[in-house]
Amino acid sequence: MMLLTRKMIEIRNMLQGVGQSEALSLPSIVVIGSQSSGKSSVLEAIVGHEFLPKGSNMVTRRPIELTLVNTPDAKAEYGEFPALGLGKITDFSQIQRTLTDLNLAVPVEQCVTDEPIQLTIHSPNVPDLSLIDLPGYIQVVGRDQPVELKQKISDLCDKYIQAPNVILAISAADVDLANSTALRASRRIDPRGERTIGVITKMDLVDPQRGAEMLSDKKYPLRLGYVGVVCKIPQQTNSLFTRHSGNLTNIITRNESAYFQAHPIAFGPQSELSVGTSTLRKKLMHVLEQTMASSLGSTRDAIVQELEEATYEFKVQYNDRPLSAESYLAESLDAFKHSFKQFSDSFGRPEVRQLLKAELEQKVLDLLAKRYWNKPAEDLAKAPFDAEPISDLSKPDPPSLFWQRKLDASTSELTKLGIGRLATSVVEDELKNRVQSLVDGSTFAAHPFARRAIADAAESILHDRFYSTSDQVENCIKPFKFEIEIEEPEWTKGREGAGRALKSELKACEAAQKQLEQAVGRRKLNDVIGFVDRVRKGDVHLEGDSSAGAGGFSSALLQTGRQAIFLRDRADILKMRLAAVKSRQCSTLKNKYHCPEVFLDVVADKLTSTAVLFLNVELLSEFYYNFPRELDARLGRHLSDSDIERFAREDPKIKRHLDLIQKKEMLELVLEKIESLRQLEGKSKAATSVG
Ligand code: GDP
Repeated sequence: MMLLTRKMIEIRNMLQGVGQSEALSLPSIVVIGSQSSGKSSVLEAIVGHEFLPKGSNMVTRRPIELTLVNTPDAKAEYGEFPALGLGKITDFSQIQRTLTDLNLAVPVEQCVTDEPIQLTIHSPNVPDLSLIDLPGYIQVVGRDQPVELKQKISDLCDKYIQAPNVILAISAADVDLANSTALRASRRIDPRGERTIGVITKMDLVDPQRGAEMLSDKKYPLRLGYVGVVCKIPQQTNSLFTRHSGNLTNIITRNESAYFQAHPIAFGPQSELSVGTSTLRKKLMHVLEQTMASSLGSTRDAIVQELEEATYEFKVQYNDRPLSAESYLAESLDAFKHSFKQFSDSFGRPEVRQLLKAELEQKVLDLLAKRYWNKPAEDLAKAPFDAEPISDLSKPDPPSLFWQRKLDASTSELTKLGIGRLATSVVEDELKNRVQSLVDGSTFAAHPFARRAIADAAESILHDRFYSTSDQVENCIKPFKFEIEIEEPEWTKGREGAGRALKSELKACEAAQKQLEQAVGRRKLNDVIGFVDRVRKGDVHLEGDSSAGAGGFSSALLQTGRQAIFLRDRADILKMRLAAVKSRQCSTLKNKYHCPEVFLDVVADKLTSTAVLFLNVELLSEFYYNFPRELDARLGRHLSDSDIERFAREDPKIKRHLDLIQKKEMLELVLEKIESLRQLEGKSKAATSVG
């Protein structure tokens, strides 16, 4: 029972999974030979299928690491490209096409590369073997090929035929062995012929006597010997169907046996020569098993060393801190939910009230500016030299009906603004932003997947609540659309509120002025302001359009000047409004038509208070209750193991940590396996020596 090779192949696959270092590579059989020496035919006879790329145009450009896995109980035969994730391929002509594509993808200028293609074939008809097929040696370089190609192929082969690999040197019988490039290369690297198996193909093409002489070659004697084969597919089975579906091994072996049996004197039992594909298969299995066995010790040492390094790194870099993708996710989620809880405790009715009041204050300011104080800013932008100087603004004339209507219209505009939608979206936006900044400050910051999941969780809850909340809010402020009753204390509070709003607006305006001044320089700014003012008053006439500049100022500078004037006028107006609010006249509710600022502030306050009640119940409480549950669903229960693994590895730091732990665990497991294999080997050796 050939157990060792199989176990070692398993071990190799495990090591590949953790990115094993060169030192840990296990021995393989490396197949070398000139082009057309029959190399592919030999490999296909072993596998039992045609699957290698065919064609005259250098079709093998990359090493093919071929792993054969014997599956005695399974009927199906299939191949897998582990690096490509194409799944199990049962159609061998598709494997052939994939190999051809992978090879032809290597650019012509490069022609060969040492980046291997991994292919595993599972079948009840193959032995457990690990083979590496290399590009065939060429005699002459083709016209479209690089001149150094011959050397490149030779270097690539040399790299692979180093110890402890077994060399399978293929030579065709119809070429003098002295001219065999494969044997010359192996002789250079393995001069005593200890690791080389010589395969002589196309035995049917030479006189049997001559063939037999080749197999007992004395010029380059090989410890593992020469094997003669006839791997040609007989003509009658040469149809595409039988080639791809039938088992080649049987067909070839039958044909081959017929040939060798027809020449009993040269190849019969007395000759003691090794001939036939099945003999070759057995030899390969046996030799690889032996090589694996003798490399057990060194492989073990290499793994022990690798494990020591990993253990050391784990201690130094991670302080032996255990970590798994699941625990990482669970901890991250807990921490995030905790920070969300803290946020929800700190963001309640008073905060929503403040938020909404500020929003409505802005609306009130805009509304008043539009109806009472100035042209809207957009008009100013359209005709920058035509702004109305403040002195031209109409003075309020309270007793008239006009001013009464003006205030009523303003109030109505405010209450019919769509407060429901406005309030709901202001609070929703705030919640989304807050969640976003919680994410930014959490471990999830480095995880695009989790960021999206959290944003989606918030979005979906808020989206579900939006319409019902905004409708409720709109409904409950409805009475204010018809009548607004105000008490004196409310008026006093409103007066303070309006004053505060104007002051903060004034501050923002002055800050913007300061910024312009800093950007351009105070003198220059004053100069351009002076110029624009003169244009506006009509003291200076501009010819044509001013887009290329005017009065010695660039158009950009003129634009800045206009902005500065806009801000200056705005500041003046704000100061005037502030003075009005502070005036004695506005100290009492009786003069409400004199003081739209105060009146509208009171209205805004009433709207806010009412809206907040419903927002709190309909939106905030619902969100605070559902959001953590939604997070659990999206980042907990619904994720598969591989999702969790992928999530954790999004963070490069965590990925390194997890990789190291995984590598360490894998090496420990591999070491355990190797130790038990060594024991088994020891026992079987002891048994053989006793026997
Ligand atoms: P590679 O380039 O080394 O892979 O060579 P192939 O396996 O493609 O074989 C080259 C040619 O030799 C093909 O036409 C095969 O059919 C033919 N061939 C391979 N093995 C034998 C054999 O044992 N006997 C004969 N007569 N032809 C063979």
